[in-house]
Amino acid sequence: MPVDSRFAATDTDVIVVGAGFAGLYLAYRLSRAGYRLRVLEAAPDLGGTWYWNRYPGARVDVPSVDYMYSFDPDWQQDWQWSEKYATQPEILRYLHHVADKHDLRRHITCGTRVEQARWDEDNAVWHVCTGHDHDITARFLVMATGCLSVPKHVDIPGMERFAGEVYFTSRWPHDPVDFTGKRVAVIGTGSSGVQSIPMIARQAGRLVVFQRTPTFSVPAGNGPLPAQKLELLATDEAGYRQAARMSPAGVPMVRSQTPTFSVPAEERRQRYETAWEAGELLVLLNAFADVMSDREANEEFAEFIRGKIRAVVDDPQTASALCPTTYPVGSKRPCLDTGYYATYNLPYVRLVDVATDPIRGITETGIDTAAESFEFDALVFATGFDALTGALAAIDITGRDAVPLKDDWANGPATYLGLMTAGFPNLFLITGPGSPSVLSNMAVSIEQHVDWVVDCLTDLRAGGFEVIEPTKSAQTGWMRHVDDCAGMTLYACANSWYLGANVPGKPRVFMPYAGGVDFYRAACDEVVARDYLGFARSGSAGVRCNDGVVRRLQPDVQMLLEQMAAAGSPPLESMSADDARAFYALWRSALPPGPEVGEVVDGVLDGDGVELAYRLYRPPSAGPYPVVVYFHGGGCVLGDATTDDAFCRDLCARSDAIFISVDYRHAPETPFPAAVLDGMTAVRWAAANATELGGDPGRLAVCGWSAGGNIAAAVCQIARDAGAPEIVGQALVTPATDYDFTRKSYSDNADGYGLTTSAVRWLFGHYAREADRTDPRLAPLYAESLAGLPPAVVATAEFDPVRDEGDAYARALAAAGVATEHIRARGHTHDSLTLVGFVLSGAPVRAEIADALRRFLAAERLAIH
Ligand code: FAD
Ligand code: NAP
Repeated sequence: MPVDSRFAATDTDVIVVGAGFAGLYLAYRLSRAGYRLRVLEAAPDLGGTWYWNRYPGARVDVPSVDYMYSFDPDWQQDWQWSEKYATQPEILRYLHHVADKHDLRRHITCGTRVEQARWDEDNAVWHVCTGHDHDITARFLVMATGCLSVPKHVDIPGMERFAGEVYFTSRWPHDPVDFTGKRVAVIGTGSSGVQSIPMIARQAGRLVVFQRTPTFSVPAGNGPLPAQKLELLATDEAGYRQAARMSPAGVPMVRSQTPTFSVPAEERRQRYETAWEAGELLVLLNAFADVMSDREANEEFAEFIRGKIRAVVDDPQTASALCPTTYPVGSKRPCLDTGYYATYNLPYVRLVDVATDPIRGITETGIDTAAESFEFDALVFATGFDALTGALAAIDITGRDAVPLKDDWANGPATYLGLMTAGFPNLFLITGPGSPSVLSNMAVSIEQHVDWVVDCLTDLRAGGFEVIEPTKSAQTGWMRHVDDCAGMTLYACANSWYLGANVPGKPRVFMPYAGGVDFYRAACDEVVARDYLGFARSGSAGVRCNDGVVRRLQPDVQMLLEQMAAAGSPPLESMSADDARAFYALWRSALPPGPEVGEVVDGVLDGDGVELAYRLYRPPSAGPYPVVVYFHGGGCVLGDATTDDAFCRDLCARSDAIFISVDYRHAPETPFPAAVLDGMTAVRWAAANATELGGDPGRLAVCGWSAGGNIAAAVCQIARDAGAPEIVGQALVTPATDYDFTRKSYSDNADGYGLTTSAVRWLFGHYAREADRTDPRLAPLYAESLAGLPPAVVATAEFDPVRDEGDAYARALAAAGVATEHIRARGHTHDSLTLVGFVLSGAPVRAEIADALRRFLAAERLAIH
């Protein structure tokens, strides 16, 4: 029964392609919502992944109680998992059980491959062609075709010549395969290889494993269902499932906030050990906050795992070949195994390292490598999949203006939320590229996508719309966010299938969304809450295009702001200056420490009769070093020489310069111009004492953040006018340069991005009087001339109330002929660039600032020597 007469013109309302985990849940939700639907499945039966991958040892690598549907609260009455990690037959039985229990089979047509799908713009329908029916029409088309459903084409020459048995883990026969006493080769050591190798070794007379890249594998510790999980499920299943939905990867877990090197070596070792013993991949990579983002942190963990491999494998040469060294742990999907490494201790099992002894080809009787000829009775290919896009590319899909999807994605997939792609109206993707998909517990991600799609169809129907499509700009914004998330990780450092690197000729693009299931869900929900932001809809209700970008903040900045909002901190302007100082100091002291530097010395400088505390950071390399005098942020009211500790450490280490962070006097006790005068005092003192400090006289620069940037800019002008001391460069980070509250950034970014406009007004009110407004020492932008100032790097942040005055100063410097580098930090806030170890996306900006400082200081050295 059509729910709405507008749908009557089509054969069915919705066509779903694929009857795996996703297709089944779509059948459940769509049928319950009253849609006519057809599920078309190429395989002879339902089950998807769990239908096809029947190789010995195939299991889940996410605990069974997590890798299941959550929509059926009664499941415990008629289903029980037998072990922590269920086998393929058990999961397939489960999927059949769900299909039967909820009467889903009647929607599914098996043995039917979709070959073509064409969008008919005039009638707003999809025409779908299969091997059997030549044209089925539907308003909506949902691709539940799987991320790992199309086996990779084997690119080893001679396949057709081999006379023995050939098996693919991804297309394993239904009848049991007996390897007893046979000579067997396994090619590939990803998850499928790692799971099947120990099982094949139980039967084979001789087993040779051909390994191109070793994997990081963790013992699964399989056994009974974990008691703790069962208890949680028994007491509050709804809460447990909700925690999974709001978790980083689809299994209840709190994102680690601890940077690796913030704890001593022994504690690190214990944490690694605990992560290893847990036998859970998602726990493993959460051992520390920076395992997936910091190369050094990752390397220490990788070495811990290599130690575990060496401890199991008897032959040192084999052990060494099994230890991955060419990519960071986690950047290729790690594996979960049962007895994988110990298998290589069996006398009839041998590892051939294809990286050093490449496969030349397959012969009639076996495999030839460069160094050896092997004879086999059976070859097993565990060589992986054309992941994420393979199943979509295998269908001839054409969208608006007959544009083929393959052409549209020639340089890599582009989607909005991984759910839809511009130019292909009413085409939905389940766990498509640009969504967390394969980086998460897929069961949770599939349910979330299906729920989103079905709710969207319902909303369309309620709103009088028939067609929905993302806008190009929304899609571009989302893909930039996907790239930003990936850019904060080490994923790009491996030739993985996440990047398409396993398939020759495939564009190298990191495809999944690495920001986490929780952040992803929040984005999807926000899009709906904001009336389908980024989508154009049309139908009897007319046309509504709600263009816009859903995630403009850098992912870690967003996370920070959400944490701050959840903490519910009082606004600065509601406090006394002293309380605000105490609050600010507490917050800054709780931030992760910055990197190690050579030496940190606290001291007091005495200049012009004024004593100012300072903290000096010396690089680890040999001196003499250039010197940078640094002015902290805090609106000339808050902060001191130590509150920007991590930022100074970071810049010191990156620029190889001494950083002297100076504690200038603060308002309201000593208002303007005390801070600027102190800034000048500090610069003169540093210039006069450079040699004693281990510095190189003549190579002096200034740097400051926020109000400190304001002081740094003013000091450069005063020094220029006075003719001394010579300052060779200025680095101004989100500086205030005229406190002009009429600027647009003060209204655009007034609230919600850390520093608020009312906080800036409050700070300004403490520091200066209206009458001081045009004094260039307060508002360097008002200087009569900016000519002759030292070369500058000015970093401004997109979501900062003071952004526009920083931008204006950068423009004015350049216009005055000052060599100026202007970094516009996209998706950043006033504070975020300084939050070293917390806001990883700020690292490239800090690197640019440090590079600029290096250049300023090096240029001067060349001129001097
Ligand atoms: P699939 O299960 O892949 O189903 C897609 C279906 O679409 C297939 O049946 C296919 O035949 C059909 N199809 C494709 N193209 C067409 C077409 N043109 N016409 C008709 N039908 C078509 N994920 C986890 O989260 N945890 C795990 O432990 C885990 N283990 C895995 C183990 C293996 C061996 C593999 C290969 C993957 C594993 N995955 C795991 C990922 C797994 O793919 C997903 O968890 C999940 O099963 C995907 O479900 P799906 O319905 O989206 O896709
Ligand atoms: P995979 O991870 O891509 O592994 C394929 C292996 O074959 C790799 O070792 C690869 O080497 C090798 N290979 C490919 N072509 C080769 C060639 N021409 N010569 C030599 N070696 C070659 O594929 P997979 O093991 O099937 O796993 C894919 C994904 O499916 C997993 O990452 C996981 O997400 C999922 N999965 C999960 C489980 C589970 O535990 N539940 C089990 C199986 C699969 P290179 O690395 O050098 O390319």
